[in-house]
Amino acid sequence: MCLRMDTNGSLYVQAKTQLTEYLEKRHMRKTPERFEVLGAVCQMDDIFSIEQLSEKMRKDSSFQVSRVTLFNTLETFVDAQLVIKHTLQRASLYEKSIDKRPRVCMVCHQCGLVKRLEKVEVTRFLNEIKTRQFFVRQPVLYLHGLCRKCEMARRKEIKMREKKLTTKK
Ligand SMILES: [Zn+2]
Repeated sequence: MCLRMDTNGSLYVQAKTQLTEYLEKRHMRKTPERFEVLGAVCQMDDIFSIEQLSEKMRKDSSFQVSRVTLFNTLETFVDAQLVIKHTLQRASLYEKSIDKRPRVCMVCHQCGLVKRLEKVEVTRFLNEIKTRQFFVRQPVLYLHGLCRKCEMARRKEIKMREKKLTTKK
């Protein structure tokens, strides 16, 4: 199967144009692998790890790309501003960013979960940030904290500890 034309068609067409321009400007080769990986990236709906992308390629693509090639291709996409790289404490995660719309990410410092927050007010606010000292190219905002699961576990642990203390008395 080929990932270069499937669902998300128009997004891929837009991304392909951007990548073609980028590669031509830098006299880089327009290898089919690069475009195949781009097709896979376009089909990733959320934030993804290199393993998840590799898994998608393995399942849905006739191209078998090594991890190193995948990593290097993603780095090219980051430079071409087609992908955002979230460099977080545990691992690097990626996300397509072809439309350049602002992103708000919630990062759990306990389990490393990264989720997107969809709030119109915040994205509008991020869109409107203008300063002469800095030119925003990819607006990304990170909110650090605990995900629901980790927060619940934390509360449970506190309760248990309190219980132990009271029974000791
Ligand atoms: Zn968590």
